[in-house]
Amino acid sequence: MNYWNESVDTFLEALKSAKLWRAYVVTRPETGAVEASHPVMQSIADAIAGDTRDYHRHEGCFFEIGRESDHVLSAHVHWTMRGQAAGGVRFWSYNTVEDFVRDGLRLSRGMGQKNALAGLWWGGGKGVVARRKDRDHRDPKLRRAIYQDYGRFMTGLCGCYITAEDAGTTPEDMALVFSTTRHTTCIPQRFGGSGNPSILTATGVVVAMEAALQHLGKGTLEGKTVVMQGLGNVSLYMVKELQERRVGKIIGAEINEAMLNRVLETYPDAPVDARLVAPDDISIFGEKGDVFAPNAVGAILNPTTIPMIQTSIVCGAANNQLEDPTRDADALHERGVLYVPDFLANRMGIVNCANEQYGSLGNDPAIFAHLDRETPTGIYKRSLEVFNRAKQKGRTPADEAGVLADELSQELHPIWGNRGQQIIDYLVESGWAKGEPVT
Ligand code: NAD
Repeated sequence: MNYWNESVDTFLEALKSAKLWRAYVVTRPETGAVEASHPVMQSIADAIAGDTRDYHRHEGCFFEIGRESDHVLSAHVHWTMRGQAAGGVRFWSYNTVEDFVRDGLRLSRGMGQKNALAGLWWGGGKGVVARRKDRDHRDPKLRRAIYQDYGRFMTGLCGCYITAEDAGTTPEDMALVFSTTRHTTCIPQRFGGSGNPSILTATGVVVAMEAALQHLGKGTLEGKTVVMQGLGNVSLYMVKELQERRVGKIIGAEINEAMLNRVLETYPDAPVDARLVAPDDISIFGEKGDVFAPNAVGAILNPTTIPMIQTSIVCGAANNQLEDPTRDADALHERGVLYVPDFLANRMGIVNCANEQYGSLGNDPAIFAHLDRETPTGIYKRSLEVFNRAKQKGRTPADEAGVLADELSQELHPIWGNRGQQIIDYLVESGWAKGEPVT
């Protein structure tokens, strides 16, 4: 049976009927063949192998049924030449196995690109847990079961992927993951973790805006107008950063009244002109200004919104802003809009937590180097490098950032080499997927 277009719940039942609780699809490094762990996985392996958009010779996609939670847990590993795969675990709703797996493929590659451009010695990884329609995903008992299961899943994967926080997952969920595995980051500060990344993410995006203005010869942010979609955690701190840089005006749209009021009450002197909108209201894209910052959700740059944009720069925090990476990057370029790829601008979330195990210090130079004007791998210099290379080669910045990231992703970790792939080979050869059946 072909499970690609079936629901994740149907896939879960198929694994159980086959008496499986673990399964994988891996790319064999020697031949490039895409291999399924079991016949029940063959349709998924075939779909992945035949895909040219989201599959980029990923090293592996791993699945496990949580023994306490009865949810499908997954971990997607793009490349691990720079180090073990690193990226957050998303807890989200998916209609089909295709949507579920594609999100893992796309996001793990995006993390690899983000880590490589940031000069981090980490590969690309992403976890995805599919919500079940018949369960209340806010129920604390269920969350405890899911995230402790996720930790056990990480332990079983022997560190080829190191997880972190992502959409739908909270710091307290990460504490539960940490209770069953060491292969996680983004744990709460009380356990030696790195805490809220939003402040640094906001600063990083503002530094990327400054690089974009510099590239266009438009000076600094002083007196400029910044238009923001979403006034959540990153935007809150971005308002402070922008106020410190004496922006002229911030125009914002938000769907949640409490979030909107929090910004206005926290920074009453900031030049914010904010309005409450309905979720389908896209009028913010038509606001005149200098920089448009998508700080809400992904896939919002598309054939409907791009023609509306009235700024010469788009630079924001949201992940995967382009609905179609090539089509929409081309459309922005044709309109003369400088698009700062999200994975270049919003790296500070992963920078903040990826190296937690190396300890922490105040004003940590390993973190703040990403925000200065001199460090070659910092956001400012790296952005200018991408814009200049793109101009020279006649590519869009999004394309050029991808090309550069893929080049950098192939550099070998200076101490551990391609250990992630070695771990995957070991999992395959030692029969990881044959574990005891679900009873
Ligand atoms: P958040 O959830 O705190 O803020 C997003 C805000 O956007 C919310 O207040 C929400 O109500 C609002 N929103 C949603 N849809 C909207 C719409 N259609 N119009 C207007 N407002 C809308 O999230 P955040 O932590 O501020 O992150 C913002 C974005 O940046 C997210 O996409 C996130 O994945 C990404 N990101 C965040 C970090 C981080 O460190 N927090 C790091 C990397 C990427």
